[in-house]
Amino acid sequence: MDADEIRSAFLTYMREQGHVVIPRAPLVPRDDPTTLFTGSGMQPLLPYLLGAEHPAGARLADSQTCLRVQDIEEVGDNRHTTFFEMLGSWSLGHYFKEQQIPQLWTFLTERVGLDPARLYVSCFIGDAANGIPRDEESAAIWAGLFTSAGLTAGQVELDTEEHAATVGTGGARIAFYGKKNWWCRGGSADDMPVGEPGGPDTEVFYLFPHVEHDPSYGEHCHQNCDCGRFIELGNSVFMEYRRTVTGFEPLPRRNVDYGGGLARIAAAALDTPDVFRIGLLWPIIEKLEELSGRSYDDETVAMRVIADHLKGATFLAVDGVRPGNKAQGYVLRRLIRRAVRFALGLGFEESLLPQVIPTVVGIYDVHYPEVKEHVDFVVAVLSKGERAFRRTLSKGLRQLETYRDTGVTGAELFILYDTYGFPVELATEEALAQGIAVSGTWREEFDKRMAAQRARSQLASRENQVE
Ligand code: ATP
Ligand code: MG
Repeated sequence: MDADEIRSAFLTYMREQGHVVIPRAPLVPRDDPTTLFTGSGMQPLLPYLLGAEHPAGARLADSQTCLRVQDIEEVGDNRHTTFFEMLGSWSLGHYFKEQQIPQLWTFLTERVGLDPARLYVSCFIGDAANGIPRDEESAAIWAGLFTSAGLTAGQVELDTEEHAATVGTGGARIAFYGKKNWWCRGGSADDMPVGEPGGPDTEVFYLFPHVEHDPSYGEHCHQNCDCGRFIELGNSVFMEYRRTVTGFEPLPRRNVDYGGGLARIAAAALDTPDVFRIGLLWPIIEKLEELSGRSYDDETVAMRVIADHLKGATFLAVDGVRPGNKAQGYVLRRLIRRAVRFALGLGFEESLLPQVIPTVVGIYDVHYPEVKEHVDFVVAVLSKGERAFRRTLSKGLRQLETYRDTGVTGAELFILYDTYGFPVELATEEALAQGIAVSGTWREEFDKRMAAQRARSQLASRENQVE
């Protein structure tokens, strides 16, 4: 099953289970000036999880387009992209753990056909100080499902990251973790305001046995180890408690929020730990290979970054964002620039975006027809962003050339950045590549000026705070 089929299978299955399928929310949240982007399926539904009535009812499902700028540095690994789709299902005061966990199990093992023997899960260990019990219910449901598949579940307590890395799973399929498996707004049970809801979270992972554990992440591997041997497919939050003055009490109306990464489930279905191999990303990689004459195996990181960023940029443009110097516009500009930068590294002399965006659009023409509807416009907007960046680059490179005899200092790099928008990492790389000396203390000098400028602009305007 490829990603498109998995998305359809999920929505169909959820309909069969009595859910109403709702459309994706745009990447830029409506009526929420505090957040730049929709970063999860839960985010647009938060008011309903907190008690408002949803017009479509109490059982909902969707596939939500998400953008996480906070993951930008992780793009390049096998499983993170800034843009991705999250499959979501919600029970607003209806069914709870006993129905949701088996439902998810059926979807993953029967509808998608994942191997139950490669599923591993995590549950909440409990929080004695706050009087919250260990989530034995979820663990017992998982144990029953594993047993029904002829598997031994096994349980292990892995409270802290250090402890987890020291002991590993020891083959246990159910691992109890602490904070990682507790959900509330703000993240910590200790400083939740009175009345605020929270609850345990159970996460599902897929094991890729051919990926060797990387000991630089810790002695032993376990569900939450970041080495890439286990990949988190999704998680279910069970909102069942409410903060009181003295501790926690059960919520009168309990909710379930499930979110699973479509690309990761599709990668598991293809039996690859590399999400870029799925149908929602691979055509872009193939296009980049064709245009650059380089291979993905040799240029893995650059091609991953370009593929992801162009997809994110496309959806941002479709959802009404224009390249600019603040808020969402700044992020869009940053995605375009990063993509072009990496493309330059692959030897792209010609415009990259007009050649690749149509491939991105083609991937989504059935499920998100709005992308195709706006294709000409999107190509025009993004290509304009690319041309502007290429002009910036060539001006910056010309200026850089004037430092050939003297070498370039951090102060001068800052001027290049400030006047021409010339990214400093690129400037130093270019200088070195062209045999222009770069001062040994450029980083400190640059950072000092950058910090001073930030302080000035924060006083002047709070709008520019993007990162
Ligand atoms: P991870 O620890 O792998 O970064 P997460 O804990 O940040 O994941 P959640 O916030 O729980 O993820 O999001 C739910 C699901 O969405 C994850 O289980 C994963 O399948 C998917 N997901 C999250 N971040 C990304 C991303 N950057 N790229 C692709 N899929 C993602
Ligand atoms: Mg998670």
